[in-house]
Amino acid sequence: MLLSSCVIWRFREWDEFRAECPGGDERLQRVVWERLDDGIAWLESLGAPVIAHETGNPRTVGKRFDPRGLAEALSRSAGDVRLRETTAEPAILATGGFQGDDALVAEHLRPAAPLRLRANPWSTGDGLRLACARGAELSAGMCEFYGRNMPDVDFSEAEFVPLAQLYGRFARVYNERGDEFFDGEVSWSENDLVQATARQPGARAWYVLDDAALRQRVRDRTVSDMVAAAPTRVDPSSLPFPKPPGAKVAVRVKPGITHTIGGLRIETDARVVGTDGLLAAGADAGGISTGGYASGLAAALVFGRIAAETLLG
Ligand SMILES: Cc1cc2nc3c(=O)[nH]c(=O)nc-3n(C[C@H](O)[C@H](O)[C@H](O)COP(=O)(O)OP(=O)(O)OC[C@H]3O[C@@H](n4cnc5c(N)ncnc54)[C@H](O)[C@@H]3O)c2cc1C
Repeated sequence: MLLSSCVIWRFREWDEFRAECPGGDERLQRVVWERLDDGIAWLESLGAPVIAHETGNPRTVGKRFDPRGLAEALSRSAGDVRLRETTAEPAILATGGFQGDDALVAEHLRPAAPLRLRANPWSTGDGLRLACARGAELSAGMCEFYGRNMPDVDFSEAEFVPLAQLYGRFARVYNERGDEFFDGEVSWSENDLVQATARQPGARAWYVLDDAALRQRVRDRTVSDMVAAAPTRVDPSSLPFPKPPGAKVAVRVKPGITHTIGGLRIETDARVVGTDGLLAAGADAGGISTGGYASGLAAALVFGRIAAETLLG
């Protein structure tokens, strides 16, 4: 959460949530959709600083918080927060998914080659393993993840957002063999293109841009500026396949994985199905944005509060 852009959002229309994330558990989605506004109001009541009262995306509603201020407001309200201590018997699993564990990623996500992490390094599936050892069932979509196509080089935490190459919809997209592998229209989040890239040879793609593509804007930046900042941009004459007509520049990209979409199967009260009363929230609980992309912070906020309510009876 601290590393995120901290936009906590839901789809404006319920039907759009279902259409965008068709593989998700409808009952869990309904809970997130109905309870998010109350969750956001609760964060504000704790003094969490809001940076913007709109998401900037007409499809969605929500607020953008200052991540550090939000973390401080939450820990201040919680009072007795203890780090680096292990509880004998965890009650609520909220370890943030399993994207930080190469073996679990290989087993469930099956990328064609290892992916770089665009997230904290500590979410290594501890919640998933603990619950599975107690009989937990897994959600739908264990092979899915949310991420961004990033320049195919190592990058730092500070570059997670500015280096994201969020203009695949304007590019012609090729794999290393020169095949245009993505059929149809790229979604607004581009998460479908990112996941398809993970399955190409070397888990890589080339974004090839002509003049018209370079003039497009994404949020407050031009595609041209984003390309200029990408360390893996090349002249199209050096592509490993014939230069496409009109190509002005190409960028080699690879998915950076932010969080897993599949995880533990939970009930609407956050109980992990198959276990004797374990609870889970956040990216440890899967099957909410399956088939698409929805706010991970929204699911964490709503089911975190529900897990606490269930625990306290
Ligand atoms: C660059 C970036 C931008 C993003 N922007 C957005 C955005 O604008 N909107 C949005 O909705 N989502 C965004 N996200 C995703 C969002 O951050 C996650 O969906 C959300 O943080 C998931 O919440 P969580 O509580 O499950 O996990 P986290 O916030 O990752 O918290 C899990 C915590 O558990 C800790 N942990 C792991 N294992 C253990 C253990 N065994 N014991 C104790 N602690 C453990 C981890 O260190 C971590 O601190 C973004 C993420 C990134 C990286």
